Amino acid sequence: MILTEGAGSQEPEVGSRAPAQMVVPTSNPAAPAPDSKLLPPGISFDPPSADLFATSPIQRAGSLEEVAQLIAACRDCKLCDARINTVPGEGPATARLVVIGEGPGRTEDETGRPFVGRAGELLTKILDAIKLPRDQVFICNIVKCRPPENRMPQYDEIAACLPFLYRQIELVKPKVLLAMGGTAAQSLLNTKQSLGALRNQVHRFRGIPVVVTYHPAALLRNPNWKRPTWDDVRIAARLLDS
Ligand code: URA
Repeated sequence: MILTEGAGSQEPEVGSRAPAQMVVPTSNPAAPAPDSKLLPPGISFDPPSADLFATSPIQRAGSLEEVAQLIAACRDCKLCDARINTVPGEGPATARLVVIGEGPGRTEDETGRPFVGRAGELLTKILDAIKLPRDQVFICNIVKCRPPENRMPQYDEIAACLPFLYRQIELVKPKVLLAMGGTAAQSLLNTKQSLGALRNQVHRFRGIPVVVTYHPAALLRNPNWKRPTWDDVRIAARLLDS
């Protein structure tokens, strides 16, 4: 990665060639990085990428418990103001399936556990139907704190929370990801496509197959979606067995 100091102020005149960029090599990662403020405009500093990201505590978390502790201490968005509990997710670190919902509701906020309300009961039944006991699945959400009045999480809240989910996925290394509902699917896949367009195909997140389906709460409101959900969940089951 090249960080360019003052690049914006060095616009070449129309028709002239842009000045070649000088890169200060940092072959020794232990060497102190040059203070970028001291670099003249047009000179770039190429920082050692591995070290750059290893400084994030989320990236350094070595277990799901450590991620949960960081979530419990998180105050990176406004959802922390009204929460009773954070809801990091639950399930074994060896889970082959990770289920991702939108965000905690009232019961989840009160208990600190994901999918324990009515939608959660339905999720447990869905998992039973593909012979996956709930306690063998890692179940979590895009945002780890309850949005007020169960409104949809907002863009800045999702952006603040996604690094936790990414680390959870890295640690669990599941065989399949099941995104339930539009918020989960769009946030994970970084797309604005509708749930209808995303269903019925296998996507990838960092190489891991992603199946998209309806959110259990939506199924409670509209039982017509149970049939297509069953089709999607069977795709996930086949991927798990492959
Ligand atoms: N809905 C979600 O998306 N997640 C939960 O944990 C509960 C309800």
